[in-house]
Amino acid sequence: STSGAGSSAEANGEKPEDGDEKAPSPEEVSFLRKVLRERLVQNKNEVEIMQKDPNSPLYSVKSFEELNLPPDLLMGVYHMGFNAPSKIQETALPMLLADDKTNMIAQSQSGTGKTAAFVLTMLSRIDTKKPYPQALCLAPTMELALQIGQVVEQMGKYMEGLKVAYGVRGNKVARGQKLNDHIIIGTPGTVLDWSLKLRVLELKKVEVFVLDEADVMIATQGHQDQSIRIHKNLSRSCQMLLFSATYDDPVMAFAQVVVPDPVIIRLRREEESLDNIKQYYVTCENRDAKFRALSNIYGVVSIGQCMIFCHTRKTAAWLAEKMKGDGHAVALLTGELMVEQRVAVINRFRDGKEKVLITTNLCARGIDIEQVTLVVNFDIPVDQYGQPDCENYLHRIGRTGRFGKTGLAINMVDGPRSMSQLGKIQDHFGKKIAKLDTEDAEAIE
Ligand code: ADP
Repeated sequence: STSGAGSSAEANGEKPEDGDEKAPSPEEVSFLRKVLRERLVQNKNEVEIMQKDPNSPLYSVKSFEELNLPPDLLMGVYHMGFNAPSKIQETALPMLLADDKTNMIAQSQSGTGKTAAFVLTMLSRIDTKKPYPQALCLAPTMELALQIGQVVEQMGKYMEGLKVAYGVRGNKVARGQKLNDHIIIGTPGTVLDWSLKLRVLELKKVEVFVLDEADVMIATQGHQDQSIRIHKNLSRSCQMLLFSATYDDPVMAFAQVVVPDPVIIRLRREEESLDNIKQYYVTCENRDAKFRALSNIYGVVSIGQCMIFCHTRKTAAWLAEKMKGDGHAVALLTGELMVEQRVAVINRFRDGKEKVLITTNLCARGIDIEQVTLVVNFDIPVDQYGQPDCENYLHRIGRTGRFGKTGLAINMVDGPRSMSQLGKIQDHFGKKIAKLDTEDAEAIE
């Protein structure tokens, strides 16, 4: 290795690939988000509704009681610990549960209550006395399918005799066997095999069809085709629902194919902003000097929890060792970890077992940790072409209105190139990034 401890990232031209760091796939990011999500994401925006019939009355509900759910299902909702519908649920549930079986395309960011909404819809549409599949849900991966199944099993806890089957790889069924489960959750390939090849379920009898994580789904070409083939074999009276965390042309084009005559509802993501963030930069000659500057900051400022972003896995690991040497309890999150290991690292940090989380650009995708008070860009975020990555910068340090708290961001600059990158970021947001003298770190308090 040419990068001695004293050389700067700029001087040795480190690239993310140097540490074999791979970006997590959309499926992985989505799964991480779900596993890490403990509660609803707050959002102050209004739900937008694009209705098929502008004359039909629209109403939203403020409580689950208003939905006239069967008692066993309402008990299931309480069992989940839900008191009131989330924002998207307030609008979506009355339409989803209505007798006319409204088709719906719904988009909102992860964590806003989409899964709970469609699980409730599926459960409300099935009759456990009928021994065949009446609800079908497609998800992009086995892990996500199992995750949805957990919600079904919790919410359906009081529905007597409820049976769920997972149409995922490795789950074997015999040709011609007739499934007596009420709900099937699976990935497109296996569900297609089960229904059209092995004929263990009759798509014509399905009353409600859900396509979850449509945006992740279409990232895999085969999934899109398989979903469309499944969809073609459903009955015309089947209720069709599609959920997505994003709302771009490819998703909507796909959505319009699988969901005829839909109501479209959207909850726009609340914009992150830099308004309550104090932004600073420090200039350092090299990596060692950056580490010393960081130590100085720690020496003077009382810091709650801190996330530090490095460009490569190698730098991240190096810095973790240096900080441990200084007596800090450090968590290290890098790309070689398995998903379960990532979840464990993030959860330990969230529980406060470590106060410092060091990670890489790529690896941090999809994780939000609210209680962090200091973000350090040990390296300025850049995209694969070495251009300043403003979106990533905002995502690392920005806050949405809900937190209200002020935050502190410190950028470490180690030469003219990173200085110019940071300058572009400053210009982009039109917010001053002030120079910090780490010998005089009291200045930041
Ligand atoms: P999404 O599918 O949009 O990612 P989820 O349905 O998984 O969102 O909900 C995110 C988190 O919020 C989950 O932990 C879920 O149990 C919880 N949740 C969902 N709906 C409610 C509600 N009405 N009240 C409280 N918590 C909720």
